[in-house]
Amino acid sequence: MSIRSEAGSGVTSRHAGNLFAATAVHRDGDGNSLHAPVLVLNASYEPINVCAARRALVLVLKGVAMTEEENGHFLHAARVAMRVPSVIRLLEYRRIPHQSRALSRKNILLRDRNTCQYCAAVLASSELTLDHVIPRSRGGSSTWENLVACCHTCNRRKGNQFPTEAGMKLMREPRAFNLHTSRHIMRLMGRSDDKWRKYLFY
Ligand SMILES: [Zn+2]
Repeated sequence: MSIRSEAGSGVTSRHAGNLFAATAVHRDGDGNSLHAPVLVLNASYEPINVCAARRALVLVLKGVAMTEEENGHFLHAARVAMRVPSVIRLLEYRRIPHQSRALSRKNILLRDRNTCQYCAAVLASSELTLDHVIPRSRGGSSTWENLVACCHTCNRRKGNQFPTEAGMKLMREPRAFNLHTSRHIMRLMGRSDDKWRKYLFY
């Protein structure tokens, strides 16, 4: 697989994992500047992904992307020092499918930001389960629109009932995870980074 196609697959399939992995590592501090999150822009300046600085540097070195903003750190390797990017931009425009993310437990939890959609508790992934809004036993399907993050307490309380029957209400209508959702998460991450701001808040 070439670097070029890797850049594309990162956008469509590994995007979700990248976002959270990158935030977690970033908090470790300067020693991990190679893991710091880098905002990836399409050739059109549209934000499309977040990746680790190490990967961003590879994309720049391969001529797939160029650095738009630096993060202030240097990478020292052999006799060269490279400025670590904070924002890169792909040199060639990539078409991003708007509806490409796989339906998975991980992606549902990411979409719902690890928040129980009934009681609003924010929990670790291990403390959340997936709830079928329309219970499976009553014809509910396993789709983006019928699955939500749910804490065990709410899940037990709801049982095989419709939310209304259990006197429960969804925080919001579940929807497929799309680029709009991704951009929202990028905005949340970018709130602390001035260099990302101008690309994300428009
Ligand atoms: Zn709950």
